[in-house]
Amino acid sequence: MASPARAARVAPEELVAALRPLVAAGRCLVASDFDGTLAPIVADPTRALMLPTARRALERLAGRTPVAVVSGRPAALLARLCPIRGVILIGSYGLERWEDGAARPDPRALAWQRGWAHDWDQVEAAVERVLAGAPEGVRVARKPWGLAVHLRGVAGPRVALERRLAVELRRLAQAFGLRLARGRLVLELLPPVRCSKGTALAGLLDALRPEAAVFCGDDRGDVPALRALGRGRAGLRLAAALAVTGPETPAALLQVASAVLAGPGVWAALLRRLAA
Ligand SMILES: [Mg+2]
Repeated sequence: MASPARAARVAPEELVAALRPLVAAGRCLVASDFDGTLAPIVADPTRALMLPTARRALERLAGRTPVAVVSGRPAALLARLCPIRGVILIGSYGLERWEDGAARPDPRALAWQRGWAHDWDQVEAAVERVLAGAPEGVRVARKPWGLAVHLRGVAGPRVALERRLAVELRRLAQAFGLRLARGRLVLELLPPVRCSKGTALAGLLDALRPEAAVFCGDDRGDVPALRALGRGRAGLRLAAALAVTGPETPAALLQVASAVLAGPGVWAALLRRLAA
């Protein structure tokens, strides 16, 4: 079993055995990313759906122990994709939380927005200019706290395209006082606010004070959350930083993971056993 101080690899079997008593006692925070973890990656992100096994497991777990979904998706969209009573929903990489039927932005995001000299319409127009010569299948998604350029729909070679767009979008990010984040076939312009899945998870650990915590992710944006578990928190006896692998798994994720799960189906099966 991994101690919070170091990320040695453990077998999922061992994890389940160690975590089940703490889940049963309501003392384990079970947290997960959404896309590529609870829901398989699909070509069209608007069609992403939680695996039925994962959904049923979260429904059972939410009545027993703290459960959270921490995603880059907007909180309002997450609420539609994961409408499970009692599950804590944190969206936009920690920039907002779903509470009482509404998205509540982090105060740091609101403070940044008040002082921002631009707006997202200007950013979108500039991104569209950058994408003018891009191949078919590149898709822009506006979010309440960012703008994503998805490359998954491009049929041809994507590596060179992604590299070129990253250079151009980084330049654009600088011009607009934003930052560029890269994920699996997605480039995102985000506010330069100290919010991440890591700060979100740390906030949950501070607020809930569980004895154990699990976080499962599949992309670069999940690395801060896995690291937050690795650092160790007061009162946290057991921490499991899980990586779900698939095509395009970033190396940085594997470096910080204490266990590796081969696809969302394996994570769903592990959740089912935790909930059994
Ligand atoms: Mg993901």
